Amino acid sequence: MGLTLRQFDGDPASPEPPPTLSSIIGTGAHRFDAAYLHVPFCFHKCHYCDFYSVVDADDQQESFIERLVGEVELQARHVSGPLDSVFMGGGTPTLLRPELLSRLLEAISTHLPLSDGCEWTVEANPETVTPEIAEVLAAGGVNRASIGCQSFSPRLLRALERRHDPASVPRAVESLRRAGIGSCSLDLIMGIPGSSMADWRSDLEQAIALEPDHLSCYGLQYEPNTPLAAKLARGRVEAVAQEVEAGMYEWTCERLRTAGWEQYEISNWARPGRCCRHNLVYWTGGSWLAMGPSAAGHLDGVRWRNVPRHASWQAGDGWPLLEDLERLDDSTRHGEQLMLELRLNRGIELDRLDCMVQGDGCEQRRVAIETGRRDGLLELESGRLRLTARGRLLADSLLCQLV
Ligand code: SF4
Repeated sequence: MGLTLRQFDGDPASPEPPPTLSSIIGTGAHRFDAAYLHVPFCFHKCHYCDFYSVVDADDQQESFIERLVGEVELQARHVSGPLDSVFMGGGTPTLLRPELLSRLLEAISTHLPLSDGCEWTVEANPETVTPEIAEVLAAGGVNRASIGCQSFSPRLLRALERRHDPASVPRAVESLRRAGIGSCSLDLIMGIPGSSMADWRSDLEQAIALEPDHLSCYGLQYEPNTPLAAKLARGRVEAVAQEVEAGMYEWTCERLRTAGWEQYEISNWARPGRCCRHNLVYWTGGSWLAMGPSAAGHLDGVRWRNVPRHASWQAGDGWPLLEDLERLDDSTRHGEQLMLELRLNRGIELDRLDCMVQGDGCEQRRVAIETGRRDGLLELESGRLRLTARGRLLADSLLCQLV
């Protein structure tokens, strides 16, 4: 296991002062591949969501942006080379008022060293993407949007407690395209309570018809401590049967394959050349900055999470306070890397695999790989180990054994 250096639970009586990011970054500059910024505001809290988000009843947007801009300026001084991607997620970044959104985008492009052609994504709820917001995004340098579509069925959106009108999705795509942001990803959720195979087919067909260049299709997760998980436990919600959800997934793989989409990860498909570069940084062990409350970062085997409480984060002096700070030992790092890279359809080169399964403590990993091959879940092809189509269906339990 990785060595947890220190955890701070926010208890003012804690004898340990909370660590800050300066304890990792120090005074030097480091090579980062990407930056993630978290904007936590949402209209309301959807009952399945375990991301850190808040309903901004007191209108804290202005002070939040001031603090976040300070964090951008400070962290930018410690970046030694150009970043290949920036991702603003949430929460709902497109809920920011246009002038505040513009200020944040300007701070990013002014202070962070962005590569030529840097992929710059903003996560958006469809109902918030007005023509004005789309113009602000494009003028600020954003070149990609990831739209939380989830379903086109009003009934299924209600089941998720998502409040947008399905018609707002094509409107958002149109506004973004008119503003010059042609690269769009749509998120869909498979296995929403009450959904059938016919519902899923309809959702996917409507998404394809909008001609995005990227699709993320995740199965609904009943995350611990969410209201939805509590409703499931009390029998107030019925989960879609596993075999129905498996059928949805298999049909998706086939439908998108025949339509010329490339499946590059278990739950992600792209038009040729349009894989999400930011996600690939996460999945291939890159290093990324994390700004904003609850944002998680990574630098050469050290990972951290900014404190996921607005007031504590806001009170920082530029360096965010951290919730967790963890330095991974080699074995844990290799196991996690193996698990992440096997999620990619291209799999992992045998040369790299060798160093991830050698040494003491790797016996379980080697056994899991051999068992996976014997059961037809993993295959060796063209010098790479990768999941088979069946392996992608059963990936969660298999990949857990590799860590
Ligand atoms: S809009 Fe997204 S981030 Fe906000 S509560 Fe709903 S699922 Fe969570």
